[in-house]
Amino acid sequence: RIIIIIMAGEKGVRASLTARDRVGIQDFVLLDAYTSESAFLDNLRKRFHENLIYTYIGTLLVSVNPYKDLDIYSKKQMDTYMGVNFFELPPHIYALADNVFRTMLSEFNNHFILISGESGAGKTEASKKILQFYAVSCPSTKLLNNVRDRLLLSNPVLEAFGNAKTLKNDNSSRFGKYMDIQFDHRGGAVGGHILSYLLEKSRVVHQNHGERNFHIFYQLVEGGEEDLLRWLGLERNCKNYRYLVQGDCAKVSSINDKSDWKTVRKALSVIDFGESDTEHLFGIIASVLHLGNLKFDADARGYATIKNNQEMHWLLGIPNQVLQQGLTHRKIEAKTEEVLSPFSVEHAAYARDALAKAIYGRTFNWLVNKINESLANQDSSRKMVVGLLDIYGFEVFSVNSFEQFCINYCNEKLQQLFIQLTLKSEQEEYELEGIEWEPVPFFNNKIICDLVEEKFRGIISLLDEECLRPGEATDLTFLEKMEEKIGGHPHFVTHKLADKNTRKTLERGDFRLLHYAGEVTYCVVGFLDKNNDLLYRSGKEVILFWVSMFSKAVVTQFKNSLVGLTEILMSKEPWYVRCIKPNESKQPAKFDDVLVRHQVKYLGLMEHLRVRRAGFAYRRKYEIFLQRYKALCPDTWPNWKGTPAEGVRCLIKHLGYKTNEYKLGRTKIFIRHPRTLFATEDAFQV
Ligand code: ATP
Ligand code: MG
Repeated sequence: RIIIIIMAGEKGVRASLTARDRVGIQDFVLLDAYTSESAFLDNLRKRFHENLIYTYIGTLLVSVNPYKDLDIYSKKQMDTYMGVNFFELPPHIYALADNVFRTMLSEFNNHFILISGESGAGKTEASKKILQFYAVSCPSTKLLNNVRDRLLLSNPVLEAFGNAKTLKNDNSSRFGKYMDIQFDHRGGAVGGHILSYLLEKSRVVHQNHGERNFHIFYQLVEGGEEDLLRWLGLERNCKNYRYLVQGDCAKVSSINDKSDWKTVRKALSVIDFGESDTEHLFGIIASVLHLGNLKFDADARGYATIKNNQEMHWLLGIPNQVLQQGLTHRKIEAKTEEVLSPFSVEHAAYARDALAKAIYGRTFNWLVNKINESLANQDSSRKMVVGLLDIYGFEVFSVNSFEQFCINYCNEKLQQLFIQLTLKSEQEEYELEGIEWEPVPFFNNKIICDLVEEKFRGIISLLDEECLRPGEATDLTFLEKMEEKIGGHPHFVTHKLADKNTRKTLERGDFRLLHYAGEVTYCVVGFLDKNNDLLYRSGKEVILFWVSMFSKAVVTQFKNSLVGLTEILMSKEPWYVRCIKPNESKQPAKFDDVLVRHQVKYLGLMEHLRVRRAGFAYRRKYEIFLQRYKALCPDTWPNWKGTPAEGVRCLIKHLGYKTNEYKLGRTKIFIRHPRTLFATEDAFQV
């Protein structure tokens, strides 16, 4: 019996100290030299080289991208993890998924799993693994299987339209995604709902060298059926489309656009896209490509005219004249009349691109709505929910713009949520169990959230205010306004406000925020335009032919959607998966210490570990603790007749626990230092 327990540990890790030295510890809470970042890193590295990519910090799962296929995601593996206690088997994403699922079923409450990490760290793969696990492990009936298929197939569709090859990741998600999976009281998956955040629309019209546009464009051109392409006026050559060639890498070895096209086609039919929906959808995608090919000439007065009218034939559903006028003129409303003001060639090109971005952005939203209709659960009885949040991590580039500002703000909000939920739940648990504890000092990033989002004087308010002064405000007046209103804030610096040393590293048009995860310098150029989602009025009329809704002030909209997300998450039990990228070159077996250390820092892993340890590092229900360790005491082995709490008392007395090492709560034993538990674990080896 003892041997069985030992072998349930990781590949028999507990069986010998040398094995532990080699493969590290499966839970950081058990790490002896716990305060040191180096020890943390050593453990991750050791495990990574043994293909053990998962490690726990309590119930938080740390995952390091192996950049190779490991044989750990089979049906057999799923079966192994189904219904087994969390700490009994080696750490795995399936263990987390299973634990969440079983907690949900036994406590009838809602949960979310926050998956974070930088681009290429493995967030989307992790979320797919969780979904696949549920698809296999949940009860199945014909009806449920139908929902299951839709949940699974919504993925390739969303990835086709929302993912792209970037320098960091060949399949990089260019939007944030929150997906609810709804379960009935027996655990059957009965529906789902997706929320998307901040699609990177600028990619439609511009890609950096070595990057691509969204996958769907290449899939359509490479894989689209002959008839379809003819109907859309497309040629089977990506090189012919300006929006597809800027990155100069239409073909990517790791991507098969042709077969992906087939997958997407099939998936669309499963998620209820009828013939007319798909026609509409691909008509728009093709129109964007044609739009991108429009060129402008200057007339005698230097104003823009469309050069290649023939492309316009393919811009579906828009009368030529409306489009022509919309792309080359701005409509200005004077007091009693509307005046058309002609564009320069440069301006017209800008309007064209703005239109393309807007069309694509709204099509993406429409797509998400359609998917949601197909995932909607018809039954109105009470549901339980597991939410999956696969959202962009903190971003720092050499030049950071409006997009990074939004993404990093989002990360501040999630960090704030993490602080609130982690500390809150710790405190609640101690209170519930009648245990005294001292809260840990912790950097609270609320001050940075406020700096960004406070009413009237936060950066977002100031930006919106400037956007309401068209013609007068510029990116620089926005910067000046910030200097005036928030110049004294300890987390905000500009060239003008900086001291001598800092000034050297700041340009005049920059502002720097001291985020919780580190400093980021933002270039203010483009903030106003991007926030306005700039579309000249006549351009908007053009787009009305396709999609009806319009929005303003991007960042405020984003802020509101984050507020909504926070509310959704606050009402649920949190679980965390922190993904780490081992190297920048997407290679297996390469562990870059500097890169990983940086991520450990900004993912807040050390802080999390500290919180886990500050009170009591480990806690276990009396039943579970007794079951696991009863073999170590002759009085509790093989069966304890009294209550589990009494059994645990007897057991720890026998093990010689000192009174300051543990506390006994109402239903659980709390152990202060992991090394106490560690010694107990090691006792198995004697
Ligand atoms: P982004 O923020 O750019 O969307 P991401 O964190 O979602 O990045 P993924 O797309 O999940 O990153 O992973 C990038 C690539 O890394 C995958 O395409 C895959 O090749 C590899 N990868 C990630 N996780 C795993 C895994 N568990 N096993 C094998 N390969 C993986
Ligand atoms: Mg992703």
